[in-house]
Amino acid sequence: MTERFARERMRHELRRRALTVLRTAEVAPGMVRITFGGGDLEGFAAPGPADHVKAFFPAGDGSTDGGSTVARDYTPRAFRPDAQGGPELDLDFVLHGHAGAFGGPAAAWAAAAQPGDTIEIGGPRGSALPPRGIESAILVADESALPAAARWLEALDASGAPVPTTVLIGVEDAATAAYLAGYEHEGRELRCFAGADRDARIAEALRDAEIGEGTFLFLAGESTALIPLRRYLRRELGLPKEQVDVSGYWKRGTAGHDHHAPVDPDDAD
Ligand SMILES: Cc1cc2nc3c(=O)[nH]c(=O)nc-3n(C[C@H](O)[C@H](O)[C@H](O)COP(=O)(O)OP(=O)(O)OC[C@H]3O[C@@H](n4cnc5c(N)ncnc54)[C@H](O)[C@@H]3O)c2cc1C
Repeated sequence: MTERFARERMRHELRRRALTVLRTAEVAPGMVRITFGGGDLEGFAAPGPADHVKAFFPAGDGSTDGGSTVARDYTPRAFRPDAQGGPELDLDFVLHGHAGAFGGPAAAWAAAAQPGDTIEIGGPRGSALPPRGIESAILVADESALPAAARWLEALDASGAPVPTTVLIGVEDAATAAYLAGYEHEGRELRCFAGADRDARIAEALRDAEIGEGTFLFLAGESTALIPLRRYLRRELGLPKEQVDVSGYWKRGTAGHDHHAPVDPDDAD
């Protein structure tokens, strides 16, 4: 274990909570913020930047009410325990899919969500706080990982000492990168890669980036696209796993991808 990247971890009581939609807002093209309330949020905690809840949605496209649900993972973007009127939780949803046909039960539900609608969530089961010895950071995120990237940027800001950070954002539509507007400041570089060749350009940018002994890396997004990045960092550069946090948030062509599955099938470590 590299001491510099040791992380404080905590477990939380695993509870299922019923939440009610209070309001919705577009936070960037193709992304909607849903603010939930409800007494069940009492005691909710998600202090880790890459924490996630399991949210339960009606199976299918939401047009039939067969009663069955599917679980999908979402990043608690913000929790306000002391909001006027009771605790509030924001989850930000990518409305993936095209021309009004939203690409999965969660995206379909979020696209149609109205105040008063309800869902249940479970978790987070546990939290990992940021390593304390970070000297610089590199974040790689697609649309689905923008909420986690924003939470990492907030956590790094809160750490006291400024941490020079590069964020490589890979998105279909460059306008979606506006999600991180407001997070730019000195010592921080936000680079957006849009278009069909974005994965290759991100790989190139990562190879050009300065990675020192104190550089922490967080990479999340489409699982297959992360394989070459992970191989470069872990195999070619030989970085320890504590220094490189890689998480497949979804997998092209797979519904309900399990992020516990190894990103690289050839290397389960
Ligand atoms: C720890 C963690 C945190 C996450 N946080 C967030 C978050 O804060 N916000 C967020 O929007 N997502 C987040 N995700 C990703 C989200 O869980 C997946 O995108 C999920 O598959 C969406 O469910 P769905 O029902 O809409 O689609 P599914 O039924 O799972 O998939 C249907 C089809 O859509 C495709 N698909 C799934 N997701 C996407 C996508 N993002 N873009 C394009 N195609 C897609 C699949 O490949 C499949 O072909 C997170 C995932 C993890 C593991």
